[in-house]
Formats: sequence, C-alpha cells, structure tokens
Amino acid sequence: MVNFNHAPFLVIWEVTQACDLACVHCRASAAPHRDPGELTTGEGFGLLEDVRLFGDPLMVFTGGDPLKRDDLFVLLRRSVELGLRTTVTPSATPLLTEGAIERIKGCGVARMALSLDGPDAESHDGFRRVRGSFDRTLFGLQYARRIGLDTQVNTTVTRRNLTRLGEIADRVADSGAKLWSVFFLVATGRAQADDDLTAEEYERVFEFLYETSKAAPFDIKTTEAQHYRRYVAQRRKAEGNGRARAEASDVIRRQAGINDGKGFVFISHRGEIFPSGFLPVCAGNVRTGGLGDTYRTAPLFRMLRSSDSLEGKCGECNYRNLCGGSRSRAYALTGNYMASDPRCVYQPAC
Ligand code: SF4
Repeated sequence: MVNFNHAPFLVIWEVTQACDLACVHCRASAAPHRDPGELTTGEGFGLLEDVRLFGDPLMVFTGGDPLKRDDLFVLLRRSVELGLRTTVTPSATPLLTEGAIERIKGCGVARMALSLDGPDAESHDGFRRVRGSFDRTLFGLQYARRIGLDTQVNTTVTRRNLTRLGEIADRVADSGAKLWSVFFLVATGRAQADDDLTAEEYERVFEFLYETSKAAPFDIKTTEAQHYRRYVAQRRKAEGNGRARAEASDVIRRQAGINDGKGFVFISHRGEIFPSGFLPVCAGNVRTGGLGDTYRTAPLFRMLRSSDSLEGKCGECNYRNLCGGSRSRAYALTGNYMASDPRCVYQPAC
C-alpha cells in the first residue's frame, strides 16, 4: 500500500463556488455569483506550482462551476504545461457549449467529468433544480466523445436515486465514459442526512457496483465510501482467483488506503486547505503557508493519516489500513473525525 505521508494522490481545487445550478446535495452550497475573495490567476499559478512539487498527483479543477471563471482555460493550460494530469468538472449549464468543450480539450486536459444523478430529465433535473441540465449533460458527454475528449460521469447516491442506479449505469455505458465515479452522501453543505442511505443499503449498493464492475465498459470508483474496498476484499476472498477478481482488484489497488487528508487534499476557492471538500476543518491557507508543509505536517493531516488513531470499531478493524471509513462522514454525523464511519455494517472480531 502506498505511503501518503509526503504527497497526495489527488489534489482538488475548487476554483470558484459560483454555479448556475442549485443542486439539493451541493457540498459547496454554491451560489450564482463569484466570491471576490477567490484565488486570483497569479495565486492559482502559484498553487499549481506547489502541487507540481508533490510530484505527479491528479489535479482536479472543480467548483461550483469552473466555467464561471474567465481565466479557467489559462489555468487549465498552465496545469497541463506543468505536467499535471488534469481533470475538470464543469456544470451542465448553457456555459457548457461546443466551444467550451473544444477549449477544454485544446488545453490538453486528460478528462472532463460531468454529473448525472438520474437516468432521465425528471429525476436528474429534480436533483439539480434547473430544467435542461439533463439534456445539457448528455450533450456534453456526446460532444466530448465526438471530438476525442475522455469523460467520466459523477453520480451522488442518495435515497432519491437508490432504485435507479442500474438505469444510470446504462446511461454511463451509452455515453462512452471511461469512469463512473460514485459519490456517497456526506451531510455537509446543502446535503441532508435524511437523504443518506442506511448502512445496510450501502452494502446493497456495493454489491450492485461490484457485480456491475465485472462486465461494465467503464471503471468504477467510489468517493466517501472507503468501505467499498472492504466489501470488494471480502468478495475477492470468497471468490478466489479469476477474471472478476483481477478486474475488481485493479480498482481497489488504485484507491487502497486513500482517505480524507491521506492521499487527498482539497483547496477551497479562497485558498483554504482541507483534508476533503466534505470535511470542513481547515488546516491552513495557500496564501499564507506552503501547501506541501501543511499537507505533510499539519496536526490535522497527520492525525487523519494515522490509522492507529482511529476510534471505535474502525480503530479495531482488520481493514482499517485498506479502508479506514469516511472521516468526513464520521465528522458530519458525530462531530469527531476519528470516530467510526456510522454507515458501515462490518463488525470487526474482538
Ligand atoms: S469498520 Fe471502519 S475500517 Fe472497518 S470496514 Fe467498516 S468503515 Fe472500514
């Protein structure tokens, strides 16, 4: 398992909180207008140079809607020039035009990610609270495919779409996306704990994802469901060697051990450094201190990387290094980011 003490695997920069959608589960509680306190273009360049000092992490430009920034393409191009594998997650609004997608591709971005939270306009637009978002998402995926820009689809699993994941997976397959990135709800921002699944329902979704992963033409990864790795490890053990095991293990191998603040760092639009966009405990600011120093030495990050500091059943669990539970969910639901993930059914042997 990779040691993430010195550098993250993934850096997420929320370039703006501005967005013309109003999604019911928005982590960023996004609003239509840009915050004047956003990092400037020059500060963004400095941030990207700091990220490059980590080595070769994945660099994700997120929002809000990154397309709300006039200098987005300048920043994307700089990221690519620095040698960072760069992904952008625009919102599906009228700003996502053919021209915008062509410019994203022209910057050398490796992949564009779009969100799809329902298999049809009624369900997806109901989530996004703006009519036309579903059609715009399908347009964006189709146009990117036509011009040769790789895509991924992001879906947040909640009580609203729990029974429709199969239909969404079919849409992902039809789109030609390379990756289905499945987010599990953390009750922060506008997200409500009532929309979250029970621990038993998480387990049933894991079964669905695992079975889907065996034949799907796209990879599947989970966010804030670290215990999917425990589920897959259990299934692999039960199934023994074989093709299905090899395919599933590749996904797990890439994500093994990654958690909030451990292989993962989030920079807010104002430059604040967080272990995750879903864990609102700030460890510093790129305006006043080095990103690398904060990631490596801030007590918050060091604590989060210490699986020996986990509490409750996560602390006793034989899967704690592979999984460790969602630190963000533990914080959102208990106020203690080292507590057990309340949405895990697994009971470690004492
Ligand atoms: S008890 Fe905690 S560490 Fe163990 S599988 Fe569940 S969430 Fe992961």
